[in-house]
Amino acid sequence: MDAVNPATGERIATYEADSQADVEAALARADDAFEAWRERPLREREELLAVAGDVLRENEREYARLMTEEMGKPISQAVSEVEKCAWVCDHYAEHASAYLQPEGHPSPPGADVQTVYEPLGPVLAVMPWNFPFWQVFRFAAPYLTAGNVGLLKHASNVPGCARAIADVFEEAGYPDGVFQTLLVGSDAVDDVLADDRVRAATLTGSGPAGRAVASTAGQELKKTVLELGGSDPFVVLDDADLDEAAETGAWARNLNGGQSCIAAKRFVVHADVYDEFVERFVDEVDSLTVGDPTDEETEVGPQASADLLADLHEQVRASVEAGATVLTGGEPMDREGAFYPPTVLADVPEGCPADSEELFGPVAAVFEVDDEAEAVEKANDTAFGLGASVWTADRERGRRVARDIDAGCTYVNQLVKSDPRVPFGGVGVSGYGRELSEPGIKEFVNRKTLWVE
Ligand code: NAP
Repeated sequence: MDAVNPATGERIATYEADSQADVEAALARADDAFEAWRERPLREREELLAVAGDVLRENEREYARLMTEEMGKPISQAVSEVEKCAWVCDHYAEHASAYLQPEGHPSPPGADVQTVYEPLGPVLAVMPWNFPFWQVFRFAAPYLTAGNVGLLKHASNVPGCARAIADVFEEAGYPDGVFQTLLVGSDAVDDVLADDRVRAATLTGSGPAGRAVASTAGQELKKTVLELGGSDPFVVLDDADLDEAAETGAWARNLNGGQSCIAAKRFVVHADVYDEFVERFVDEVDSLTVGDPTDEETEVGPQASADLLADLHEQVRASVEAGATVLTGGEPMDREGAFYPPTVLADVPEGCPADSEELFGPVAAVFEVDDEAEAVEKANDTAFGLGASVWTADRERGRRVARDIDAGCTYVNQLVKSDPRVPFGGVGVSGYGRELSEPGIKEFVNRKTLWVE
């Protein structure tokens, strides 16, 4: 497996992929490890997780550099990502016991009835490259602490990150086999998932990958959590603070080179403020610093690979051919590396890629709507349902509009973000299940009823 630096096109390292025998050995280790791990007191599992958080903090720069080299994330955002991983470790180290407290029920006379939460076993995690550390810690921190063991199949373009994450758990003192990385391609996933020792799967990635994993898991009757793509609306109503909305919107679209499931992608703007908002928004987008991702000042780095850039540009090209207008950007940058400029498209026709598909790069589509009802209609005019953001000076109006948008989460006067304290996940083709907070740690447990007389 080759790791290629998308800012330069150079190969950084080559990793030997795991053989079938390696995978078999890993499955056997996972199975063995689970028996002892599930018996470890929850308090001890929490303590180990807190140590994993310390290991992340101690090696913050090294891990951040690895992400920047392998997928082009600006270094300042890579450092923040490592810090967020440490935070999710701290969070579950502190709260797992409370989240997993047995729950009492109204009991028949003479009986004591409770739900207790027990781990399921080895969980396969198929993960994407865009937040190569965060996506993994988002599943590993709660699921391991609940007593499961983890098998990571990371995206093929971030093998160094995959290895480094396994090292974090080893350095923290986790027993052998509790967290393992499988360096395999996506063609190996079916067999691993079908193996009896694997009890459940979580996938963060695209719709096609989610459907493939869900269908195998369905065949095997194994539970899945799917965190898939999004085309989040960013709704600007006529009473919004336009400066704040334009500045936050530009950031919400272009963070991580625009390669975020919860990036604001469709900007739905009330006609009374459309011209003013668009002018400020384009100014904000143009002011972003694009360049070398190792530079601390860089805000937008390259796309994660030349292929991904070509796919994105094809979506832009097809949208323009269908009638969209380019307000800024719109062509790959004339420089070494997979650089695409922050781009804004207006007059976007219904059904073209910028309207109906996920644009996984720094390309915003703006839409003009006549009133609040039309704004909600346009926001909901998508098969995705991950997040949404609504901008208004009136919090009650914001709450009302937010309730009318079909999405796993809607933020008012804030960009959509994931936070260890808050449940996260989508509806529609954005997936199902919830990660983080209390629902997250309860996704892969046996909610066992215990009736004692
Ligand atoms: P991807 O191509 O679907 O890859 C994600 C993972 O799935 C990789 O490990 C990939 O392995 C594997 N995979 C691909 N096809 C598969 C198949 N047929 N069977 C089993 N596994 C398969 O997605 P990506 O390009 O890495 O990530 C971008 C997508 O992820 C976007 O749509 C984005 O919105 C979504 N995403 C969602 C969330 C969320 O929380 N909802 C968060 C981040 C990203 P290989 O690399 O070996 O192909």
